[in-house]
Amino acid sequence: MPNTNPLLQNWDLPPWQSIRVEHLVPAIEQIVTDNRLAISTLIDSQSTYPNWDDLVLAVDETDARLDEAMAVIQTLDTVTRPDNAWRQAAAVCEDISAQYKIEKMSNAALFRTYQTLAQSSVAELFDSDRKTVLNKILRALRRAGVELTEPQQQELAKLNLEIGALEGLFLSQLKWASASWSKRIDDVKHLEGLSQDVLDRLALNAQQAGHDGWRLLLDEVTYTQVMTYAEDRALREEYYCAYTTRASDQGPHADQFDNAPLLQMLVAMRQRKARLLGFENYAQLKLINRMVESPEQVKQFLRQQTALATPAFEQETQAIKNFALTQGFSSVEPWDHEFLVAKLRETHKGFALKGLRKFFPLDATLRKLCEFCERMFGIRMTELTMFERWDDSVRLFEISEHGRVIGHIYVDPYQRKEAPDFAGTSTLRNRRRNAEGRVPLPIAVLHANFSRGAAGQPYLLTHKDLRVLLHELGHCLQHVLTRSPHYTLSGISQLGRDTAEFAGQVFELFGLSREFLLWLAAHYQTGERLSETQVDNAIASLKAYDSGATAQLLMSAMFDLELHLGQGESCDVQQVFDDVLRDFPHLNLPQWSRLANSFDYLVTGYEASVYAYKWSGVLATQTFKRFENDGVFNLQTGKLFREKVFAPSDSRSLLDSLEAFLERPIAADLFPPTAELSSVSARSPRLRT
Ligand SMILES: [Zn+2]
Repeated sequence: MPNTNPLLQNWDLPPWQSIRVEHLVPAIEQIVTDNRLAISTLIDSQSTYPNWDDLVLAVDETDARLDEAMAVIQTLDTVTRPDNAWRQAAAVCEDISAQYKIEKMSNAALFRTYQTLAQSSVAELFDSDRKTVLNKILRALRRAGVELTEPQQQELAKLNLEIGALEGLFLSQLKWASASWSKRIDDVKHLEGLSQDVLDRLALNAQQAGHDGWRLLLDEVTYTQVMTYAEDRALREEYYCAYTTRASDQGPHADQFDNAPLLQMLVAMRQRKARLLGFENYAQLKLINRMVESPEQVKQFLRQQTALATPAFEQETQAIKNFALTQGFSSVEPWDHEFLVAKLRETHKGFALKGLRKFFPLDATLRKLCEFCERMFGIRMTELTMFERWDDSVRLFEISEHGRVIGHIYVDPYQRKEAPDFAGTSTLRNRRRNAEGRVPLPIAVLHANFSRGAAGQPYLLTHKDLRVLLHELGHCLQHVLTRSPHYTLSGISQLGRDTAEFAGQVFELFGLSREFLLWLAAHYQTGERLSETQVDNAIASLKAYDSGATAQLLMSAMFDLELHLGQGESCDVQQVFDDVLRDFPHLNLPQWSRLANSFDYLVTGYEASVYAYKWSGVLATQTFKRFENDGVFNLQTGKLFREKVFAPSDSRSLLDSLEAFLERPIAADLFPPTAELSSVSARSPRLRT
């Protein structure tokens, strides 16, 4: 009898609506059983004279089948409101899949078979992409401990398990800590300064909690809004205290969900893992497959960028202090900083940012962004109407080139209570060519975190929202526009972090281009355009006083690096944080704040990698200069970018691709002489792939 489990069928687009909880575990069990059999059969047949199709492509096929099924399950787990049964089934699938991967990656016979192929005379004739694939696979197997003795492998497996559990617990405690705090507000005057859509959301929170008025919860979007716009200083202070002490020994829920001991254990275990695998420290282990060559190089980069950023930071801090005095503030506390910056920006260019969002309704802006990508990159982005989705608001774009479909992008625009409160891009399928010559097409999902507009009203994007949309669109396009046929190289999940963040950051820069904004903006009711002066003033306001964001990013990156440079059992996380903070005195963080305890980048795959945002940000800034010089609508430049940056696989490094695009060396731009420092602009660290 044929198996009807939708997760086991071949699909071009996932059968979202037919997947039920009872399909999850049987599907993953079946795939893992099939994969085990396939791997053991191919080891038997390939151990002496291995060949590309029957070894590399065959193993890729097994990986792709499992990864794609798991990606569908993980997407549904994240974006829908799963019940307990679903959550448990999804967790079982995660366990089965993780266990299988550990088993596969410690398979010495499989490792030897790859080695035999890599050392064979056949391999000498391989092109550079195939050689890169083989090297990458062998490196990954070594890094997973395939060459260790059996007791060492057991220790590694135990460490991996414990590390995974601690990372999960860190996030759970953070979630519980955040959920424990709320504040009921009965008088709207305490919320003065917040926009109507924020007030509507807070009112909805109150309704859901069964009371009138408004209810503040501890989420990132609300935090940003309160810190930037709430006039009530006492409210900002209270909220700041609750937010920056989450999961710690301080604040309103001190010691209830303290992540510090857990983080200390985690760092020590990561260090032990690195040592076991022959590395001096965990940062060294994490930086394999990166553009950057060593932790020392990262440190030098961050130090140099900090030195370059400091004068502007000092100058702006003083300007904010001076401005504060005119506003009746005798001191600038951390909960005043963003608020004062917003006021300063408003006055800077005559309220240039007020009402700006009326010119960026979500639907029309998205349509125009697609039109822009079509023109620049020579593709078609056709919005489909008949397709399966997990929510009515989800949209689907079919990407085609020269009349042939080459990939798909889902756009999930709105924040949902059950979903993470940050934007991001996830992938469901990587492009590859299989042994039969069939090419499964890449699929990306753009998750935004916009609030739904009131019924019947279009959602109007803030400029920050626009940057989010551009950033994630950059990631999605990089994923679907690759031409690489190799599973191990294609797709953004296969890129090192310092490469993966690049496309998002380049796309964000379009949002600060005069020419681009003049073309993009149109009033959602009247269609009226922004004038050149309005756009110039808006850009000037947006660029002003952003050195605080740069300092935050550099501080976080340095802390993350220091934490993974050989801290052992006795590591005092807060001490490391305080030591790093000494180089950023103007950040003026209170003694009692505990930002490390809620710094979830440390447990979501970004550990020892936060630097990547600044690193790729510098490259993006340099790269964008070519768009500025040639004109942001220059089709030749767009086409060149598509061919040199989006098309190749990573057998060619991003630096090589950029040199081909810019027609000049670029590596030295990462370490510019001090005089050029002022051209390096701040990038936001809060966006993820
Ligand atoms: Zn990103």
